[in-house]
Amino acid sequence: MFSYRHAFHAGNHADVLKHTTVIAALQHLTEKDTALAVLDTHAGAGLYRLDGDYASTSGEAAEGVLRLAQAPADGLSPALQQYLERVRSFNQGTSLRVYPGSPCLLHGLLRPQDRLKLFELHPTDLRALAGNVGQLEAGRQIAVLHEDGFEGVRKFLPPPSRRAFLLCDPSYEIKSDYGKVLGLVEDALKRFATGTYAIWYPIIPRPEAHDLPRRLRTLATRAGKSWLHATLAVKSGQAVRAADGSTRRPGLAASGMFLVNPPYTLKPALQAALPQMVELLGQDRNAAWSLDTGG
Ligand code: SAM
Repeated sequence: MFSYRHAFHAGNHADVLKHTTVIAALQHLTEKDTALAVLDTHAGAGLYRLDGDYASTSGEAAEGVLRLAQAPADGLSPALQQYLERVRSFNQGTSLRVYPGSPCLLHGLLRPQDRLKLFELHPTDLRALAGNVGQLEAGRQIAVLHEDGFEGVRKFLPPPSRRAFLLCDPSYEIKSDYGKVLGLVEDALKRFATGTYAIWYPIIPRPEAHDLPRRLRTLATRAGKSWLHATLAVKSGQAVRAADGSTRRPGLAASGMFLVNPPYTLKPALQAALPQMVELLGQDRNAAWSLDTGG
């Protein structure tokens, strides 16, 4: 079984990038009345305590959402304000003790006609997810599936309403996840060419991670689809050699979001939000952002 637990990472800089992007995209997609099928292939536990053991051990939220929350809200771009407002809505008072994962954030954007399918394989996270989702609704709007998200999601494409948003956010613990992401997007575009497909990936010194956005861009371009690629780096990703000769790894320094068929409103939203993410979350002079579109 996988050892990755998102609770260690909840609210870190990668979540800030991913969740800001997802909220901005979904806000636009839910403006049109027609029902939207929302698919989360790697859901996680849904809700995380920032003052719990996992989060305290890693302290990653302190360098992500908690830093952002200290900035004066009126100076933030609309996408970052929306993101923080939604995170705050899961908390009482001004301090952030709880962080909503993608299932809770996605659910918060649904209208009654929309449906959300959540896939999670880890038994512990699955139990937590079912409990957290059960508190959100008791009806038919959300389905929690104990299935491989890469495979299980295929049966929901194309959706009956012919409108879909898919988030694919694996832990990339195993190298084969990179190939599976490409396989999923390729297959999804064949089944349902007009869906919006959002992929998160880590920027790490590994050939598969380096190649993923390039291969996604080729895939989208060959299919004649528009795409958007956003990256956020908060520090250098280079390992540091200590005086005693040991090597200290810096932890995740950067990540990216790649969307096929992004809403046209996403580019301007991120153009305003990304420089502020760098300004507020950057830890050294390697902090940087990029935003490319095509198709
Ligand atoms: N999307 C979540 C969020 O933004 O809050 C975080 C998801 S976390 C990065 C990845 C999750 O995928 C983990 O909880 C892991 O147990 C689960 N997982 C790993 N492989 C899976 C698979 N093939 N299908 C479904 N879930 C999987």
